Amino acid sequence: SINYPIYEHDVLVIGAGGAGLRAAIEASAAGVSVGLVCKSLLGKAHTVMAEGGIAAALANVDARDNWKVHFADTMRGGQYVNNWRMAQLHAQEAPARVKELEAWGAVFDRTPDGRILQRNFGGHKYPRLAHVGDRTGLELIRTLQDYGIHRGISVYMERTVFRLFKDGERIAGAIAYDRERGRFVVFRAKAIVLATGGVGRAYKITSNSWEYTGDGHTLAYDAGAELIDMEFVQFHPTGMVWPPGVRGILVTEGVRGEGGVLRNSQGERFMFRDIPDNYKAQTAENEEEGFLYVLAEKYQGRDARRPPELLTRDHVARCIVREVKEGRGSPHGGVFLELQTFSRWYAQRVKRFDPVEHWKKKLPSMYHQFKELAGLDITREPMEVGPTTHYIMGGVRVDSDTQMSRVPGLFACGECAAGINGANRLGGNSLSDLLVLGKRAGEYAARYAQERTGLPVIDAGQVEEAARWALAPFERSQGENPFQLQQELQELMQNLVGIVRREDEMLRALESIEQLRRRAQNVAVSGNREYNPGWHTALDLHSLLTVSEAITRAALLRKESRGAQFRDDYPRKDSAQYGKVNTVIAKGPDGRMQIRWEPIPPMPQELLDIIREENGGVLPEELR
Ligand code: FAD
Repeated sequence: SINYPIYEHDVLVIGAGGAGLRAAIEASAAGVSVGLVCKSLLGKAHTVMAEGGIAAALANVDARDNWKVHFADTMRGGQYVNNWRMAQLHAQEAPARVKELEAWGAVFDRTPDGRILQRNFGGHKYPRLAHVGDRTGLELIRTLQDYGIHRGISVYMERTVFRLFKDGERIAGAIAYDRERGRFVVFRAKAIVLATGGVGRAYKITSNSWEYTGDGHTLAYDAGAELIDMEFVQFHPTGMVWPPGVRGILVTEGVRGEGGVLRNSQGERFMFRDIPDNYKAQTAENEEEGFLYVLAEKYQGRDARRPPELLTRDHVARCIVREVKEGRGSPHGGVFLELQTFSRWYAQRVKRFDPVEHWKKKLPSMYHQFKELAGLDITREPMEVGPTTHYIMGGVRVDSDTQMSRVPGLFACGECAAGINGANRLGGNSLSDLLVLGKRAGEYAARYAQERTGLPVIDAGQVEEAARWALAPFERSQGENPFQLQQELQELMQNLVGIVRREDEMLRALESIEQLRRRAQNVAVSGNREYNPGWHTALDLHSLLTVSEAITRAALLRKESRGAQFRDDYPRKDSAQYGKVNTVIAKGPDGRMQIRWEPIPPMPQELLDIIREENGGVLPEELR
């Protein structure tokens, strides 16, 4: 039999990014014992990579901003299939969460009169993103860690959770392997909060790091929770495309927010050519107006409107794909993103300025990223960019107010949970989501734990079984290579279930996923259990295959194009039908994946009124 230590907590938080840390802080403030587990070192979560900022209607830069406009922007960006209650809570509570972060010591960039500075971002009507240069995530993580570390939270680093346990219907605990020692550890807890982040590693080109293999999605699904909206995978329009080794690394939307423009190989600013109807009234009519918007100035007596580069990510990504497909791409298969036009315009019309100093201050990480990785000076030369898999809107289905899934005691928050973003997330809305809904998850998980006496029981047989499953790849001396399988899966998701989707291709993808799943059962690894990347990749395959199948099934079911889902065979939105439903996935009694539609509950009148007002006096078809 297998030896393992057992750690006991009231609340176990799996994932130490922004969502997990915020949940752990809140649960521990409620006085319960909290364990926090993460796959690598504390502080290395995805959140640390966030660049652009945190969206919150603080109204520091534009006094007209308020939660209602933020709510309406989020719903419009999500094309109305969002969970409206979550979008409401998020917009209402984000300012308080940002101010709290400030009170805990976060250093933000400042307005001249000393308030938190806010910047423009795609799909946000007013400058709304609180930021620290282009290193906002780092500051968020630093602050939460510094604050949380003194609250008696037990941290377990380099432990990867691969199975959850239940006691009857209730959640009971989890098993993880310890990367450093190659041993197993078991956690017993009254409540578990999943905060494991995204699924980007299911694709070949991604801004996500190796940790984002959809573990939380899969753990929840295997434990009986539902997944919703899995078809909605966000392809960020601007990742690096060159050199090959760094392909996919993010180029923040902040570059466009600060005046960066997109051009094709003919020098054309192609984004002006295709502006969706529902954004026409909010978009600049020419370059002049777009630049004035960046400076928050007037144009022809009224407020300047956003340049088309700041349309929503789904749209910008598709426009880039079209330019490349039609032969107007950059040498390495992207398009150009450049700061020089703004620099010239600014120097001519506003005042002389030093572009090098200006951009190094506004976009310090981007400056270094291109300098070091591509040998390119972004203050003088255009960048080459193209879409990269960035974020998943879909995830664990949870209650809007408490973040609990349908498995009693199992909560989820952050990127691995779903609802708030609908068909497309606005930039900046993730960091605020982590804080707002992470706090709620921690609060309600603690309450759930407090209402229960005695720890749940974990069946030792189930632990043995899980450990044996994890060790099986060592037993085979010959078999499939885990890296090979992972690579094949990434290629197939990239090619067949990517930015542009078609039924025949996705049916092929499903077949291939099924074959890969069979091959994965025969995967073999060798060597020690300590720090064995082959073994870890072998275990990750289960999660990657599960989320890949879920994405593909949901994308097949939604026979329309909406937000991040673009169907070549159904290029139009079908708001009367598909605009009123979510896809819901659960494991069937036979162990197979089942998928169905579920109608979105009707929105209360007061929220409908907000949307009508922000939408020029008419309700969008989805809400009629
Ligand atoms: P993460 O921060 O991803 O943390 C996940 C945690 O779970 C990690 O600690 C990991 O180790 C752990 N974990 C995962 N699996 C397991 C397992 N099996 N067992 C144990 N632990 C596990 N959003 C914005 O709003 N604004 C931005 O400016 C912005 N910029 C971004 C820039 C980049 C380059 C990227 C990649 C994303 C950006 N995003 C931005 C998105 C945002 O950063 C993420 O959506 C968000 O940080 C996710 O936070 P999280 O807490 O849900 O998970």
